[in-house]
Amino acid sequence: MLSIGTATAQAPQQASTPAPRAEWVTLGTSGGPSVQAERSQIANALVVGDAVYLFDVGNGVQRQMAKAHIPERNVAAVFITHHHLDHNASLGPIIVTHWSFKSGKLPIYGPAGTVHLASGLAAANTPTELAGFPTAGPAKPPATAEIEPHDLPDDIQQPTLVFQDSRVRVWAIGVDHYQVKPSIPLAKMPQAVAYRVEAGGRVFVFTGDSGPSARLIKLASGADVLISEIVEPEAVANQLMKNAMGAAPRVRDAVINGMSHNHLSSAEVGKLASTAQVKRVVLTHFVPSPEVVSDRSGFTDGIFPRRWLVGQSTISATRRCISAAVRTPEDNGTATEGRIEEDFKEKAIYFRIARI
Ligand SMILES: [Zn+2]
Ligand SMILES: [Zn+2]
Repeated sequence: MLSIGTATAQAPQQASTPAPRAEWVTLGTSGGPSVQAERSQIANALVVGDAVYLFDVGNGVQRQMAKAHIPERNVAAVFITHHHLDHNASLGPIIVTHWSFKSGKLPIYGPAGTVHLASGLAAANTPTELAGFPTAGPAKPPATAEIEPHDLPDDIQQPTLVFQDSRVRVWAIGVDHYQVKPSIPLAKMPQAVAYRVEAGGRVFVFTGDSGPSARLIKLASGADVLISEIVEPEAVANQLMKNAMGAAPRVRDAVINGMSHNHLSSAEVGKLASTAQVKRVVLTHFVPSPEVVSDRSGFTDGIFPRRWLVGQSTISATRRCISAAVRTPEDNGTATEGRIEEDFKEKAIYFRIARI
């Protein structure tokens, strides 16, 4: 179902019957196109009752779903934030698996290019369809007929309702990725979106990839859980410089500049969380992968100014959960208490965000 239209991102509607429990599962938390040995690429499952909504499907999502005991047959829709490989690499396998084990159209949403990508992946798998299985039943429609891909409008400026069913409502907004001149004109590049979801009486916001963006603040306003991307530009630059011996300092500067415009540092995540007054922050899209970084404090140190910390001793980048207050002393207690969570210890295993 596609129901495009502007809507405010406030006050979830009260359902007449009790909302089914909603749980956000970070299936993959590694950003960047390289596949990591110990951490899967970006993927999230929102599990609402027996329905599963996937938000990004980077490499390894199906294995992660199996580990998290999330049945693939329960996938009700797929939402993609943008067309970088770490966010869409497993779309093909998901389409073919849907065709193999389920009937009916799988809705797939994403920015411009999603129809092209999904339709092409389905069409390219004709040989897989023809191979069949010894236990195959009656002939099925082709995979191309079992998907319902949608391109979201370009440059969405306000939270815009793009999908709803009996369990969830999903809003999208354009975000600020690809801000540094690439090898092709910016105008030709597909766009990136972030999603806001109401489910189970709670609001989840997933940033996808974005630099600092006023639109993200609008989308995240008052959310119960902000699932935010995070990068550590200094660590990325240091890694690159180590690998590219003798690279000029300007390369390092260019890397830091690009990362700062296209992604969120811990300080920017902190600003976003406090400005939007979200209740809880969950970090994902770690670049570089925490497994290859000796000092992980850069992922969390800047999230909240130190004066906001409930206690300095509670900050430890190796801890799974970090408690902090999403407020300043000047707020006079009007802002909400919040928590920051990360999954350094969970590695490639999933991280469930239980009811708060
Ligand atoms: Zn990414
Ligand atoms: Zn990206």
